[in-house]
Amino acid sequence: MSQHPDQVIVVGAGIVGLSTAWFLQQRGVEVTVVERDAVAAGSSWGNAGWLAPALTMPLPDPAILSTGVRAALSPSSPVYVPFAVDPRLWRFLAGFLRHCTPRRWRSAMSVFNEANAQALAAYDEVPGAPTKSAEPFLAAFDSAQDRQVLVDEFAHAGGTVDYELLDADAVHRLEPLLSREVTHGMRIHDQRFINPGDYIGALADAVIAAGGSIRTGADVQRILDTGNGAEVRLASGESLRADRVVIANGAWMSDLARSFGVKAVVQAGRGYSFTVRPWRVPSGPVYFPAQRVACTPLGDAAAGLRVAGMMEFRSPDAPLDPRRIDAIVAAAGRMFEGVDWSSRTDEWVGSRPCTADGLPLVGATSSPRVFVAGGHGMWGVALGPLTGRLLAEQITTGVAPGLLRAFDPLR
Ligand SMILES: Cc1cc2nc3c(=O)[nH]c(=O)nc-3n(C[C@H](O)[C@H](O)[C@H](O)COP(=O)(O)OP(=O)(O)OC[C@H]3O[C@@H](n4cnc5c(N)ncnc54)[C@H](O)[C@@H]3O)c2cc1C
Repeated sequence: MSQHPDQVIVVGAGIVGLSTAWFLQQRGVEVTVVERDAVAAGSSWGNAGWLAPALTMPLPDPAILSTGVRAALSPSSPVYVPFAVDPRLWRFLAGFLRHCTPRRWRSAMSVFNEANAQALAAYDEVPGAPTKSAEPFLAAFDSAQDRQVLVDEFAHAGGTVDYELLDADAVHRLEPLLSREVTHGMRIHDQRFINPGDYIGALADAVIAAGGSIRTGADVQRILDTGNGAEVRLASGESLRADRVVIANGAWMSDLARSFGVKAVVQAGRGYSFTVRPWRVPSGPVYFPAQRVACTPLGDAAAGLRVAGMMEFRSPDAPLDPRRIDAIVAAAGRMFEGVDWSSRTDEWVGSRPCTADGLPLVGATSSPRVFVAGGHGMWGVALGPLTGRLLAEQITTGVAPGLLRAFDPLR
């Protein structure tokens, strides 16, 4: 089998699929991106857009165990598991809980540290809209204990994060939108952010400008290894052929990838967001770690502030549950002052593609012609371009870069 493919089909036009397509093009490959809905129709649109290596950590965290399983069954809990009979969900949860130990978290964190060290440089190679320097990137708390949790987490993660602690006056001087409930702050240096919708739109334009095609409204039902290439069958009955296929369809990956030996379940960890237009929009992201709420300025004052949060383990196709939006408003509402929460717009739910061990699934499958790229959970935006760069190298050279060993989809 010739190592360097001429044509590759990428399934899914999110940050991971489009980044992979773009890096393949840089290596002389003709790409077709096949998307059942529209560009950034999945979790790549309404997310918080943080390119925040300081916070890019594995999701299975011992702290989740201490929150307690009972709390997770409450619809207002930031981590919510509906009580449903779904064997795949329970298999995922059993594996996920097994990974919520300090030892496994540290082991996954060492992989994230390696990825985080390369993530921003990969962004600089991609021609999306410019990334913004997060000045400042603020974390805000209503107690010293809550702040200490993040300080400890940074220490356990390797102690390389550059941050400073702020008292109440300093944090309010930096961000007057915060309410007097905020008594402790932290300023984290060297982080960036994007407006995800704008960024991915620009990346899609770049893929097309480089000669690629993006077929929207094309629902992939099945993928076949034909022995001398790969075939992608669409719901319309049409078949597309190429030398290789990359499955990058986010939280829906398991259905297409399972027949290629990918046993790890990709479970939707649904998050919610909406936009408010307060009297002043912070210049950088604001994070409320204890409330698990992330806020991101989308551009100018008219563009507003995106408020995002929640982790709901549920079907990626379930409708938006307004109780989850209410829970975010309740959690963030008291931390800001002068925000009209009732005039929020763009209420959105999207599915983080989560794996039980918290590590992405990127690389070759049991077929040498079919690859997967996904399972980045909370951090697919930050790690999307790096993923695309590494996978394009593997697909075109036949050699997996070192980091991809930890992301082996057949593990
Ligand atoms: C509230 C929230 C906040 C977040 N904040 C951040 C953040 O600040 N930083 C960060 O790094 N990450 C963040 N994330 C996570 C991030 O959004 C995801 O990890 C990332 O978007 C995953 O990208 P993806 O390309 O793998 O999947 P997606 O963006 O979901 O793309 C998959 C695409 O595949 C398409 N598709 C699915 N099935 C098929 C099929 N059969 N045929 C054709 N097309 C198909 C879908 O329509 C979709 O467009 C957040 C997520 C949420 C929900």
